[in-house]
Amino acid sequence: MKVVVCVKQIPDPAVPGQLDPETGTLRRDDKLILDESDSYGVEMALQLVEAAGGGEVSLVSMAPRAETSGLRTALAMGADAAVLISDDALAGSDALGTAKALGAAIGGLDADLVLAGTESSDGYTGTVPEMVAGVLGLPSVTFAKHIEIADGIAKVQRQTEAGYDQVECALPVVVSVTAGVVEPRYPSFKGIMAAKKKPVDHKDLAGLGLEASAVGADGSRQETVSVTDAPEREAGEIVTDEGDAHNNIVEFLTELKVI
Ligand SMILES: Cc1cc2nc3c(=O)[nH]c(=O)nc-3n(C[C@H](O)[C@H](O)[C@H](O)COP(=O)(O)OP(=O)(O)OC[C@H]3O[C@@H](n4cnc5c(N)ncnc54)[C@H](O)[C@@H]3O)c2cc1C
Repeated sequence: MKVVVCVKQIPDPAVPGQLDPETGTLRRDDKLILDESDSYGVEMALQLVEAAGGGEVSLVSMAPRAETSGLRTALAMGADAAVLISDDALAGSDALGTAKALGAAIGGLDADLVLAGTESSDGYTGTVPEMVAGVLGLPSVTFAKHIEIADGIAKVQRQTEAGYDQVECALPVVVSVTAGVVEPRYPSFKGIMAAKKKPVDHKDLAGLGLEASAVGADGSRQETVSVTDAPEREAGEIVTDEGDAHNNIVEFLTELKVI
């Protein structure tokens, strides 16, 4: 079984000041790290291949400056190989442009199953996995909390507010994995050393057969026109109980239409 996992490499969220107020996009000049959201997809892929008794876990990432730090973390967890998509013409890609690039790379990998996070930690449009499925003409199952593969069918527990739905889908399929549903393994020292030698296939636009006009700033059909901070939380109102506090509370809750 061949599982492909989309892994995003993101600016370290612990480092402040990553948002460029001019462009409304994140600065990606420093080292990028594996998005924690995608460590769940990597873990799930490794568990599925282990359960199948064999197979391969490949990673696909689109990132600037041929960045592989985050990919090496996922390879150290146990993934076998990676494809890195990097090209200056991809700068300014919106979610659809990103999906076109990821889809072009995944299309060449003959995957039985494509996994992705439900949403990334930095851009979090939460639309890329479904767009990748659209680009590849594959079905998409979202919010997976558990996956089993048997007889060419993916059996997916889809998390819902009330519990979960059991969905079955013939392979190949794109499944987005909810954060926190598995415990991502820590890379061992042996895994970290082995990851240094694992193959990373570098692809540019020409290598993917994509035109620059379809992706990047030129291909983007949306623009972040402004970025606004959430309003500061206002101080609460202190009511001193002089025997009529219950009236104030009822009045307050009535105003909120809670009662
Ligand atoms: C006008 C515009 C310009 C932008 N310019 C840039 C830019 O120049 N540089 C830039 O980095 N971003 C840019 N972005 C942001 C970029 O479009 C999104 O970050 C990117 O498309 C991924 O979307 P997301 O993070 O919202 O993914 P989500 O849909 O929230 O991610 C869900 C899952 O999809 C997968 N995924 C998402 N992105 C990738 C990826 N790159 N590689 C592998 N897997 C992935 C992961 O599994 C992830 O967990 C721009 C956005 C807009 C709207």
